[in-house]
Amino acid sequence: MNQAALILIKPDGLKKSLTGNILTRLSETKLEIVAAKMARVSRGLAEEHYKHLKDKPFFEEIIRYLRGELHDRRKVMALVYWGKEAIKKCRELAGATNPEEAEPTSIRGSYGRITTSGVYENVIHVSSNELEAEREIKLWFAPEEIIVELYPKKEVSERDFKRAVWA
Ligand code: UDP
Ligand code: MG
Repeated sequence: MNQAALILIKPDGLKKSLTGNILTRLSETKLEIVAAKMARVSRGLAEEHYKHLKDKPFFEEIIRYLRGELHDRRKVMALVYWGKEAIKKCRELAGATNPEEAEPTSIRGSYGRITTSGVYENVIHVSSNELEAEREIKLWFAPEEIIVELYPKKEVSERDFKRAVWA
């Protein structure tokens, strides 16, 4: 069964110039990249992304982390990987959430760290199950940004809708 997984290269991954390394590691999965972009992370987007952790003591710190406030990199790279067992394959390569417990050769084991304030800076986000992946992909991407049909979509017409085009 084909699955989709949302991957984020978090601001520490970008600051450490790890984009190439991370994408190379993920290419071992032989999965297909069906969407990719750089994204600014508003407070609303970050809070929605991590809403399942809202009651945790570290919530405020991980919002600041995802928004790039800890790394002076106000962006993340967002990608959708698609193919057989995409979530399991990507999470295996990413390694455990806590970079000190992650397999040393995994992405998080190789490049992550725990800050003095206790945040796991683990360079990458990977969806953890299909439901979460669907919720996250719909949060980060619009239908036209994904090159395969992942989820049902509908058309709406918007009156007086304005969008930027090249001048
Ligand atoms: N996190 C943290 N301390 C914790 C648990 C999580 O700093 O005790 C951070 C870490 O960056 C992690 C993110 O919060 O990637 C989201 O946590 P989750 O439990 O969803 O882990 P993940 O799915 O990213 O492995
Ligand atoms: Mg998670």
